[in-house]
Amino acid sequence: MDKKLFRQIPQVGELAASPALSPLRDGWSQTEIVGALRALLDSVRADLGSGGALPDFASDGFVADVEAELQAKKRLNLRRVINGTGIIIHTNLGRAPLAPQAIEAMQDVAQGYANIEYDLEAGRRGSRYDHIRDLLCELTGAEDAVVVNNCAAAVTIAMATFARDREVVVSRGELVEIGGSFRVPDVISQNGARLREVGTTNKTHLADYERAIGGETAVLLRTHTSNYRLVGFTAKPSLNELANLAHANDLILVEDLGSGTLVDLAAHGIGDEPTVSHSIRSGVDLVTFSGDKLLGGPQCGVLVGKADLIAQVRKNPLLRAMRSDKLSLAALEATLRLYRPPHDPLNDVPVLRMLTASAEDLAENAGALVADLGQVPGVSAQTLPIPSEAGGGSLPGVQLDSTGIALSVGDLTGKALIARLRANEPAIIGRIVDDQAILDVRTLTPGDVDDIAAALMAISESA
Ligand SMILES: *Cc1c(COP(=O)(O)O)cnc(C)c1O
Repeated sequence: MDKKLFRQIPQVGELAASPALSPLRDGWSQTEIVGALRALLDSVRADLGSGGALPDFASDGFVADVEAELQAKKRLNLRRVINGTGIIIHTNLGRAPLAPQAIEAMQDVAQGYANIEYDLEAGRRGSRYDHIRDLLCELTGAEDAVVVNNCAAAVTIAMATFARDREVVVSRGELVEIGGSFRVPDVISQNGARLREVGTTNKTHLADYERAIGGETAVLLRTHTSNYRLVGFTAKPSLNELANLAHANDLILVEDLGSGTLVDLAAHGIGDEPTVSHSIRSGVDLVTFSGDKLLGGPQCGVLVGKADLIAQVRKNPLLRAMRSDKLSLAALEATLRLYRPPHDPLNDVPVLRMLTASAEDLAENAGALVADLGQVPGVSAQTLPIPSEAGGGSLPGVQLDSTGIALSVGDLTGKALIARLRANEPAIIGRIVDDQAILDVRTLTPGDVDDIAAALMAISESA
């Protein structure tokens, strides 16, 4: 390490006053400039430490670096990214993109006040849950509904309300971990209930449930095996059989559906996901599901079911700690309205539109995109068939035929190109297949194309 080079790094104050930086002084305060210089000098030192060269502090290049650092510091930490992974309900990328109607509804109530807990007809206090109750009942066939912050909260409050100090019977094939440390056995025990496992990993029969029922039993719990599938030599009783068994013993049948689709996707050739209304029709007393998985709305958790049970959930003081805010409730109501005429949810709810996009349409979109991106000097783009997935623990094992765009810029490796795309603003998240950088068109939106072309142009110019 060359100590002399380190000594040539100017003081921050001296650099901040240098004439080279004067173009920046119009748009940025002295404090902001000093902050940016500190960060840059830190990286210059790190660079020298690993054998790098000293930059020319008066050069246009250095001034551009200072400006880039200033811009980066101004950006919000939480911001838009472009999803080129093909995973529609990508939990790390914020799950469901909202429909314009939902965004408008959020804006409307965000700007000022809203009748969130005010009954406009009666002119007195109302319930925040009334705005979505009728819609949820209509769309699921349930008697009543309540909304909390996410599905994990919905399961938690169901256990805390109905099974505290008593037993919950669950099949050994359904003791799932959803991710983010949400595990069914833990959710049961953390809420003061006792887990009673029945059956085996692959087969659980009605008689297994029957034998487990005793004086301590409160709930039979069916859990959707969201992120895996049991295939082969397997068996489980139907919901109908479980409901009859529960009711014959004065017990409650709770089903944690997780994704909880409101439309029959199987009828459109996608998976065999049960609908929420199917569960209600089969006699399930209480169904829990997420708002931001297949439903395609904001993050929230929905409980629908028998009126007397929902009434008990509403009385549980825990509900206050899980209360959904006006923004989520506004977005949820607007999203639910897209499930009724004159709307077509498969077209109007972005998650469902991406999910049901045909392989032909995706190939066509990809072709058009490749024609655009291929114009960028130094960039080559090609289409290739790839599988995409629903994600978010929805439709496990269901592969959706999609088209990827394989990109290359100069001699950048696939890995290096993916890193450069991720460093772009907005960040573009792709995936690597066989050391190629790939963007899956299924999760791209029309507005993303210009950003991707601009990013590739910048990468190509600096490669
Ligand atoms: C995803 C999922 C949850 C958790 O839902 P969140 O809305 O993410 O809290 C719970 N149960 C099942 C079966 C799930 O698939």
